Amino acid sequence: MAKENSPLNIIILGGGIAGLTTALALTKYAPASRPSPRITLYEVRPEPATIGGAVNLTPNALRLLSHLGALQEIRANNYGKECGAVEVFDLYSGSKLSESSFRGPEGKGLGNPPFTALRITRGESLQGVLAAIEKHSNIKLICGKKTTDIKEDANGVNLTFEDGEIVSADILIGCDGIHSVTRLKHVEPERKSIYSGICNAFGFALRRKTASGAYEETHFETSGMNFGRRGILLTSFHDEKKDSIYVGALMQVPEIASRDGWKARGADAEKTRQDILERYAGAANPLINHLIEDAQDLYLWPVFTLSKGGKWATDRVMLIGDSAHAMPPQGESTGIVFEDGVLFARCLGRWMEKNDGAPVKEAFDAYERLRRQRIDTAFDESQSVVKTVNDAGWLGHRIKLTIVPWYLWWTRSYREAHFIEDVTTSDLNY
Ligand SMILES: Cc1cc2nc3c(=O)[nH]c(=O)nc-3n(C[C@H](O)[C@H](O)[C@H](O)COP(=O)(O)OP(=O)(O)OC[C@H]3O[C@@H](n4cnc5c(N)ncnc54)[C@H](O)[C@@H]3O)c2cc1C
Repeated sequence: MAKENSPLNIIILGGGIAGLTTALALTKYAPASRPSPRITLYEVRPEPATIGGAVNLTPNALRLLSHLGALQEIRANNYGKECGAVEVFDLYSGSKLSESSFRGPEGKGLGNPPFTALRITRGESLQGVLAAIEKHSNIKLICGKKTTDIKEDANGVNLTFEDGEIVSADILIGCDGIHSVTRLKHVEPERKSIYSGICNAFGFALRRKTASGAYEETHFETSGMNFGRRGILLTSFHDEKKDSIYVGALMQVPEIASRDGWKARGADAEKTRQDILERYAGAANPLINHLIEDAQDLYLWPVFTLSKGGKWATDRVMLIGDSAHAMPPQGESTGIVFEDGVLFARCLGRWMEKNDGAPVKEAFDAYERLRRQRIDTAFDESQSVVKTVNDAGWLGHRIKLTIVPWYLWWTRSYREAHFIEDVTTSDLNY
């Protein structure tokens, strides 16, 4: 383990949103009394992949990105579209049923300082975080490295890469996503990913213009969830220009046995389009059909999940983000990942500050005590989303339409408490 005045040597596997924000948090929440940790991020791809759909960064997520210096980069580049509420519509009548609002009591957002939400592509959110990373000389990002072996002992962790290089560190943080090598090769090999039964088929459609030259009207302000009998279709702006609309169809799709099978199924974009058109037939607003017809580069994203619970850590290795707790989308997934990174970094910072010879596992345990309940609850919520997406008859659809506004009303104060919470100052009990 690092001596008192030498920096803690940390390896993070995975240059996705969890890995990058955890690196920022570890830098920010390291105690001033100790040298900054030396952090090396290893990403398996040749560069961080900026593909993906549009995610909603909730107020708690924006607050943390602001603390980490990444929101400033996102704003400076004008990425994303501010979102005051996610509105819920019945696909067949077009009527608005309810909304999940981020506007807060004075319309400026939730919390202090107030934040609303931001709908942004996964790629642009990653670009913002990467720009913040570049400002820290203690963080190094190395791409194109495939891990073949992970070993730990009382002195540290050793990683072997496919090219034969072996690197060591005091601790390893696995931020390598749902199919995490850190988990599957080291922490809990038995905990494999499971197909959730739903896919997100998504693309971006350029907005059509009417004869007068104006853009076709949208029924939503920024983001609308359109509930149909056979899935939920998310339609949303994702940048200030509002000339393109993100279309994401959450729908039940039978399992395909292999990864190659999923790839082949996803490669047939026209089949995916026909499938979505058929599933969302009968929409009251013709815009829905236009968006599905026009969506470019339709991508089929099978939603994999991990079992609830599971093991997150060994003595020197910790899992953060999807590698620990991938779950179907429940509206706050990205914020949950930022919270993971910040709380973990604060616990580790506390351990570094104490510097009393206790094993680093003490900090890992403190983090798990803070996190388990929140993650378990989010997991249960995500199962309700899966049920809502599943195919239903007309009666089932009517029941869903009755329950959803009630559910949003019932859970509002609980959701808002999370949106307001600032985990940079919350009690660690450690
Ligand atoms: C390319 C891509 C596109 C996505 N698109 C969507 C989307 O459209 N909608 C959605 O809801 N979610 C999407 N996700 C998932 C979403 O990003 C995550 O659910 C969430 O943000 C949690 O982030 P994470 O960093 O824990 O995991 P991820 O975002 O999955 O990031 C994991 C990172 O680790 C890297 N990695 C994997 N294995 C290794 C290894 N052995 N060594 C080093 N690095 C490794 C991956 O390349 C990736 O960069 C996408 C993920 C990826 C990787």
